[in-house]
Amino acid sequence: MDIAGIDPALVARVERETSELLAALIRIDTTNPPGNETAVATFLDDYFRGLGLRGEIVGEPADRRSFVVTVPGTRPGPRLALMAHEDVVPAAADQWQEPPLSGIVKDGYVWGRGAVDVKNLLAAFAVAVRRLLEDGRDFAGELVFVAEADEEEGAVGGARWLTTQRPDLVRCDYLLNEGGGEFLALPGGERLYDLMVGEKGTAQFRVIVSGDGGHASVPLRRGNAVVGAADVIRALHDYEPKASLETVPAEYVELLVGDPALRARLLDERSARAALAELDEIDHDVADLLVPLYGATFSPTIVHSSGEAVNVFPDSAVVTVDCRLPVGWTEERVTAEIEAALAGVDARWRLEYLGTIEGNASPPDTPLRRAIDAVMARLAPNARVVPLHCAGFTDSNWFRAAFPDVVAYNFAPFLVDDVQATAPRFHNVDERIAVRDLAFQSLFAYELVKELLA
Ligand SMILES: [Zn+2]
Repeated sequence: MDIAGIDPALVARVERETSELLAALIRIDTTNPPGNETAVATFLDDYFRGLGLRGEIVGEPADRRSFVVTVPGTRPGPRLALMAHEDVVPAAADQWQEPPLSGIVKDGYVWGRGAVDVKNLLAAFAVAVRRLLEDGRDFAGELVFVAEADEEEGAVGGARWLTTQRPDLVRCDYLLNEGGGEFLALPGGERLYDLMVGEKGTAQFRVIVSGDGGHASVPLRRGNAVVGAADVIRALHDYEPKASLETVPAEYVELLVGDPALRARLLDERSARAALAELDEIDHDVADLLVPLYGATFSPTIVHSSGEAVNVFPDSAVVTVDCRLPVGWTEERVTAEIEAALAGVDARWRLEYLGTIEGNASPPDTPLRRAIDAVMARLAPNARVVPLHCAGFTDSNWFRAAFPDVVAYNFAPFLVDDVQATAPRFHNVDERIAVRDLAFQSLFAYELVKELLA
């Protein structure tokens, strides 16, 4: 697919440069754990030194550093940060068609771990910066390129470290980060692009069920911690928290759901849960997009019993649950939901949180939003950009928490492959990106700088 309004010779050049750079980045092993992100930070430092820019390699420990470089424009204006993480998740090489650290270019795709998550953006942003330098930095304000360590695990927390230890380096008015920009082709020919303006928080917790001891040859009618844990798992799995429309954009539901009656029920708190179940029967994929927007989610993922002998009742069993909470929710509100979910469970249990991070969001109507809309209207004329909250968690959260005035959005638009094609490549085998999509992300970033920092 052509990129509207861009000279094909330029597209070809950006494709070549971004795919060479992405291939080189993929070949640097930053599998997290352990990360070793300093290798990518050093590589990027060399790249930008070659362009005459001096950045900083910063962070702790020494092998897990981030890279930040500031590019001043020619006149005063706001500060825009372009951010992407250096680390990638592990890959089981024997299950891949191509070696995951090869960066091989084949049939119009760059293959390898990090091709969509998210070394693609490091390459796309770097080439956009190079072109801006070539043009004589003809923009206002400042551009900041941020390549942060440890997004995937959050053990040393590159973005958390940068925003708390070096706010002087990364404080900005606008932030563009990974996590949005996938599109869904709508029946009328339009393309629905998700612009992630906020993200849910995490309130992962443990439910510790205590039990009565004793010899297992005589079954316990009550007080078996393992059975209690099973009841807790089932109750959390089956629980449907009250639907909350606070973070459900009506425009999104209207675009995704064709049937007007079902749509109306999805937009009414009293009928929304039943309507979601109905939608799941008709269109499972669309239901998956909507369900996380309607409230807290409980996913039990780990279960342990303290028992070591098969003939002894354990004194406790522990269920660990991944819980995501909508923007605006606190731990207290989640506790109330957990208590409601477990109200009918006949077991002695207590609750322990593993470290809650509240969700946060930027306003949807800002100069950054208008610039994104304007650039997308030029480059992909049938695009419709809709602001949403992300079900997962990205490093944008740390920026909003540290700099209350920042407008942080997650948007890295694709042009060729739609969400059904790209979504299964994240954290999965055969991760790859179309060379045209990679170039599109770079051309988009360049145009966005020109539009926003005009
Ligand atoms: Zn990522």
